[in-house]
Amino acid sequence: MNLTSASELIYDAILTLAYPQVCVICGQSVEQRRCGVACEECWKGIRIFTDEEEICWKCGVPGPACGRCESLAFTAARAAGMYEGALRESLLLLKRKPYLPRHVESLLVAAVGREPLNSTTRVVPVPLHPKRLKTRGFNQATIVAQVVSKALKLPLDEVSLVRVSTTEKYRAGLDAKGRRDTVAGAFHVVHPRLVAGENILLVDDVYTTGATVSACAEVLVEAGARKVFVFTVARA
Ligand SMILES: [Zn+2]
Ligand SMILES: [Zn+2]
Repeated sequence: MNLTSASELIYDAILTLAYPQVCVICGQSVEQRRCGVACEECWKGIRIFTDEEEICWKCGVPGPACGRCESLAFTAARAAGMYEGALRESLLLLKRKPYLPRHVESLLVAAVGREPLNSTTRVVPVPLHPKRLKTRGFNQATIVAQVVSKALKLPLDEVSLVRVSTTEKYRAGLDAKGRRDTVAGAFHVVHPRLVAGENILLVDDVYTTGATVSACAEVLVEAGARKVFVFTVARA
């Protein structure tokens, strides 16, 4: 972990004594608040994307061009890391608490600073349905989008894209097409003027099949967006 100030280290030491925080993965004590729910060692154990590895340029899956993502409506999708271990636990917690540990924030900042995401002009979080937003109290995608928009110095747009149907829910056993059908028509652009001509950076917590972000990208492009790039914290 880099650049931890002395005062922060002292504060963390006091905090560890007062409220020992146990790593959700290995059970060792977490010495630094910036690591969140997992210890430094467990953070080292997860796969974080760099510029080095081979990925499918469009959907970002590790390996060569996957040949399965052609029908998806976005231009390209990238993630900070794989949905596993410490990153997975941090995202599960993000569904309950509107908070990202500093270490995750720094992973996000590094990932969105790279090609092709750094050419975007406007940040749009994948919206929750108003009903779901009311029960949860916050949109986890917005928490991620706040970090991203600040890092890239881009406007954060929470108003243009809305979710008009609640039918989207992960259902085990559905194939890719079945999942696409459940989200088709779930999103709507209410302020086309705000997205027209923009290179949108669409932000969500996890990329699974790409069906949700593709449904969002489709309506954004129909509303006049030039391109839609996708950024998620993790890739399943
Ligand atoms: Zn650990
Ligand atoms: Zn692909």
